[in-house]
Amino acid sequence: MSLQDHLLARIAQDGPMSVADYMTECLLHPTHGYYTIRDPLGTQGDFITAPEISQMFGELIGLSLAQSWMDQGHPEHFVLAELGPGRGTLMADMLRASSRVPGFNEAAEVVLLEASPALRDVQAQTLKDHIPRWIDSVADLPEAPLFLVANEFFDALPIRQFLRDRDGWRERLIGRDGTALTWGLGPHADQIALKDRLNDTADGDLVELCAAAIPIITVVAGRIGTHGGAGLIVDYGDWHSLGDTFQALQAHERADPLAQPGQADLTAHVDFEPLALAARAAGCAHSRLTPQGVFLERLGIATRAQALAAPLGGSELEALIAAHRRLTHPDEMGNLFKVLGLYPTPSAPPPGLEP
Ligand code: SAH
Repeated sequence: MSLQDHLLARIAQDGPMSVADYMTECLLHPTHGYYTIRDPLGTQGDFITAPEISQMFGELIGLSLAQSWMDQGHPEHFVLAELGPGRGTLMADMLRASSRVPGFNEAAEVVLLEASPALRDVQAQTLKDHIPRWIDSVADLPEAPLFLVANEFFDALPIRQFLRDRDGWRERLIGRDGTALTWGLGPHADQIALKDRLNDTADGDLVELCAAAIPIITVVAGRIGTHGGAGLIVDYGDWHSLGDTFQALQAHERADPLAQPGQADLTAHVDFEPLALAARAAGCAHSRLTPQGVFLERLGIATRAQALAAPLGGSELEALIAAHRRLTHPDEMGNLFKVLGLYPTPSAPPPGLEP
């Protein structure tokens, strides 16, 4: 049975489904899920991420976390974790850069949260010198200082969408018309989680909620607040999202998210304020939300690019200049992507970020 047939049967039996249920089925279905069965990254795949654009991204993130580790008295055992590590490129670049920081790599236990068996295989290959351990849930993160990165992880978590009208909120749902998947609206229902959004929305506005992100941030922030450490959450989005940001990408082009379930990457912009509030409630401080370009510039990406450029010429030099621009320029990823830092209340935020 194809994923489309499975979804049609599920809707016939249970009625229209939320965007969250649709995302979970499409991305993580055990046999048809988009991530479950493929490596979607890179020029041959459907999308490209910052660590796949340039090694500079992971190197600078690794050094920011290593500096935090030194600032916190270099704990002699800690967890170096990544949520949704893709091909393992970011972690490999971090560890290569941090190998210059005496004691850091030796003290690190590398832990990866990854749902995709296909990507776990790729990560095992990329990180074979570092003996990573995989976990299925953040609850399995050891009780130890935690230095963590998550790049384009939270945007893959399932969201629900709600449309405001004069009578309240209606959930946007996915139903069927014959053999096609179609958009519809559920009945009006009270949404306690949306009470505050009545202040900054009007009739006709659509808002998104990512309930799955909250327990994850709560555990991560709890570990950092209790044991020390730091977290860098990098994703596209803003403090508050407004409007429909649910999107599908296939072969680097926007696609209709309902057209070919399981064949396209599905994401939504990250709403950072609820993450920051959950972190604070769990006893952890958070930085100002900072554009990726500003963050990387503060960490010295221009100097690193010059060093990498020195031996290069021709098309290699052009590619490096283009990668630097792509990561930092406000018209490219520099402004769309944001960084939120988590750190223990008595410490300073990781370098590149402000309290
Ligand atoms: N961080 C990588 C990859 C981003 S793609 C990079 O920057 O290149 C999203 C990653 O999150 C993939 O590794 C995907 O398999 C993983 N992922 C998505 N949803 C997940 C979930 N619910 N639990 C664990 N991993 C998940």
